[in-house]
Amino acid sequence: MAELVSTRGLADEPVNYVDALLQGRAPDGGLYVAEEFPHVGLDELQTLAGLPYEDVFNFVKGRLIGDDIPYSEQARITAEAYAPEKFPEALNGNLVPVTQIGDNLYAQNLSLGPTGAFKDLALQPLALDMEYALEEADEYLDAVGVSSGDTATAAERAFKGLRRMALFMMSPEVGMSGFQKAHMGEQTGGNIHNLSIKVPFDTMNDLLDQLKSQPEFANIAAVNSINWGRVVGQIPYYFAGYLQVVGKNIGQEIDVIVPSGNMGNALAAHYARRMGLPLREVVFANNENNALHNLVQSGIYVARKSEITSSPSMDICKPKNYERLLFEMMEGDGAKVADYMQFFARTGQVALSDYGLSPTAIKDAGFDSGTSNHADRIESIRWVHASSGDVIDPHTADAVTVARRRKLERPALCMLTALDVKSEPTVEEALGFVSERPDQFKEVGLGSQDDGFVSMPYNLEAVAAYIRQHRIAKQPVPAAK
Ligand SMILES: *Cc1c(COP(=O)(O)O)cnc(C)c1O
Repeated sequence: MAELVSTRGLADEPVNYVDALLQGRAPDGGLYVAEEFPHVGLDELQTLAGLPYEDVFNFVKGRLIGDDIPYSEQARITAEAYAPEKFPEALNGNLVPVTQIGDNLYAQNLSLGPTGAFKDLALQPLALDMEYALEEADEYLDAVGVSSGDTATAAERAFKGLRRMALFMMSPEVGMSGFQKAHMGEQTGGNIHNLSIKVPFDTMNDLLDQLKSQPEFANIAAVNSINWGRVVGQIPYYFAGYLQVVGKNIGQEIDVIVPSGNMGNALAAHYARRMGLPLREVVFANNENNALHNLVQSGIYVARKSEITSSPSMDICKPKNYERLLFEMMEGDGAKVADYMQFFARTGQVALSDYGLSPTAIKDAGFDSGTSNHADRIESIRWVHASSGDVIDPHTADAVTVARRRKLERPALCMLTALDVKSEPTVEEALGFVSERPDQFKEVGLGSQDDGFVSMPYNLEAVAAYIRQHRIAKQPVPAAK
């Protein structure tokens, strides 16, 4: 059984994978994290080389969650989550292919799933895991989330048609690209609800917090990367990517460069490393919203308002998964983590050194960071196109920019987190053209962009009333002990 503990450390007993999945956040307000990570030896890595991604995924996930979901069910879920029709552009059946884009520089395409973003890779199996858990418990569950793009579409696509869950996504009325908005609106129907709210993205998080603080909505689930299931679903592709980069040289160290927002993806790389994958440095790439970069470099975490950029899925200045890293650096002292987070929430600034840690503690734990601005991304899109013929999106360009500024002493693998089709205006600005859309996206955005959204004022009671009327869990799932 997986033993998961809360980063605030106040929950008395570890919970298993299924409980963590359905709860999202731990009852004490912390995030769930594995108490210990299973070890994968180099000999085992050898046996994974060349296997289809589904097999690598089953192996790594099985190690992480044990038989919290029976292994036969896990295999069924994986086969359904990664069915070929959901990944029509997979390269010779490879769902997460690596290509070389420069000297010692590689990119792993994580965006071949149904919505063209890496989030498909974790959300597809997550939805089916949740449905399985609810079937077993004979329960129903509602999830509410906030997103300005990829999370909403990928989550909606993954949860669409589930019998035991309803999903409500709140998104800002302005600020999303035409493609994003149209693609999201298309998912509406049945158990999927899109609420368009007349406020900036940051403010919507407050609305969600207020909603969850009401007893009647306390059991609402989370599908963002505070959910441990999201992180679990992202660890296996680092194994698959590593094996493609090193070929026969299993054991050779590489670095990974990860476009980071809430840093769930980068943390998944770190957890792969803790399982024994030879990753030397995990590098966070930030855009103009570089609070995380400044924190890594200075040890000081400063609250900032996020601004809208051309890599909008990374427009986050309070990376939610930082708390998981902090928990590790504070050696599992949940009370200290809680104190640090509360101090930050109150004052807007906190130093690692005030909590007995070195200002370089994050670097010492094997991380580094970098940042890019719009002009850098444009230039990296051009550079990759000139050097390899590939067209990358601006989120991936953040990572490539950061990678190009480093001395590449060993292979560096950049994560390609979205397809260029989702950011056509930026690609057009960089290259003067956009690449041909894959068939599955040909029609997106041709209709009205307001289709599929229920427009809502910024008003807690209005949102609560809508959810009350449409929710599926009339009897909320009791919190696990
Ligand atoms: C969500 C997202 C990110 C950020 O990932 P985190 O795990 O939140 O750090 C980066 N790029 C794209 C395209 C995304 O959709």
